[in-house]
Amino acid sequence: MFDGDPIIVDLRRRKKHRIAQNVRNAARERLMLAQGGICAHCEEPFPEVYEPNRPDSPTIEHVMPVSRGGKSTIDNLLLKHGACNEACGNAPPSKRDRKWQAIVAAALPAIDEARRIAGLARLQAKQASEEAA
Ligand SMILES: [Zn+2]
Repeated sequence: MFDGDPIIVDLRRRKKHRIAQNVRNAARERLMLAQGGICAHCEEPFPEVYEPNRPDSPTIEHVMPVSRGGKSTIDNLLLKHGACNEACGNAPPSKRDRKWQAIVAAALPAIDEARRIAGLARLQAKQASEEAA
C-alpha cells in the first residue's frame, strides 16, 4: 500500500466527502432553526420533511457567491428553497439577504448553546447507559 494506492485514495475521498456532508447537514440544521423554517428569499416555509432534489427543499446559498469571492462560513450562508436559490443565481447580496443575515446572526448564539447542551445531555445519557451495562 502506498499513498497513491487507489483504495487509499478512494477511502480518503469518501472520508472527505462524509465530513463535508456532516458540515453541510450541521449548517442546514442551524440555519433552519435560526430562520424559523422560513426561506430567506420568498419568506415561505420549507416542507415539514426534508427530501433532497425537490424545488421546495431547503438548499444552502452563499449570500456573496463563491464566484465573487464569498466564503463557506455560516455568516455567508442562508437557507433558501432550491428554486429560490436558483433564481438568485450569482447575484450580489440583496437587501432581503442582509436582513436575514442579521436575523441568523442574532439567533445563532442561543441555538448553538442549546445544541451544545443537547450534545452534553446525549453524551451523559450514553455514559450512564454504558455504566449501567
Ligand atoms: Zn423560497
